[in-house]
Amino acid sequence: MSLPVMLTFDMDAENLWTARDPKGKGKPVWVSQGTYGPEVGLPRILSLLSRYDLPATFFVPGEVIENHPVAVESILERGHVVEHHSYTHTWSDELDESAEREEFQKGWDAIVSATGRKPKGWRSPAGELTENTITLMEEFGFSYSSNLFDSDTAHWLTDRGRVTDIVELPFAWVLDDAPFFLYSNRLPGRTMAAPSAVVESWIAEFEGLRTEPGTHMLIGMHPQVIGRHSRLTVLEQTVRHILESGDGEFIACEDYAARIRESNTGR
Ligand SMILES: [Zn+2]
Repeated sequence: MSLPVMLTFDMDAENLWTARDPKGKGKPVWVSQGTYGPEVGLPRILSLLSRYDLPATFFVPGEVIENHPVAVESILERGHVVEHHSYTHTWSDELDESAEREEFQKGWDAIVSATGRKPKGWRSPAGELTENTITLMEEFGFSYSSNLFDSDTAHWLTDRGRVTDIVELPFAWVLDDAPFFLYSNRLPGRTMAAPSAVVESWIAEFEGLRTEPGTHMLIGMHPQVIGRHSRLTVLEQTVRHILESGDGEFIACEDYAARIRESNTGR
């Protein structure tokens, strides 16, 4: 059986930078790094996805949806799914319960208003959950979460020992473009990796995972990061390798989560 492969894109745009620096809105160069995502990177990504007829899942903060309606429309026109990635992209571990609830509500409203569909999946803007996050996911009726790094296999999300009705689709930093490529002269300790190093990592992950039934491969990317030509080659070479192997199945997160739910595995 072929390995389920999910391509996910966190389209954070300017909010990736304003969330990292509260004064970021007053810094045009800082913020412009994010503008590149929806304006330049996204059309290239959508064109690549169309060329290989691949489904993808886009996690988009509500404020980005409101600020970039044309970009969001282009995602929807190609049949891709937009899921919940907070409202402002403020790191949730900085939020109290009512502020986090507001992020959930406003992000939800922005998606419903732009897409006519209720989001099914939630991904943290901070790479972290608070003690309130899972309760909020349950209240809003999310079907799946894609946040943890604990496994290569989908499983039921638990909250302090209690098993929830939410499917967790774990991923990994090694399957994310940001640790390799996200760079700014003002972000301490960052260097840029060679695209070839990332292709090597992603293909090796695929080759290992495909030998282990029940696992999946979930890649996390950002249009402002992967959308440069040198980095798009990483995605394209990985996709070509998987297609040529005949042993991968590209699938949207919501469809894979529904399959896990139906088979009820891991409960
Ligand atoms: Zn993000």
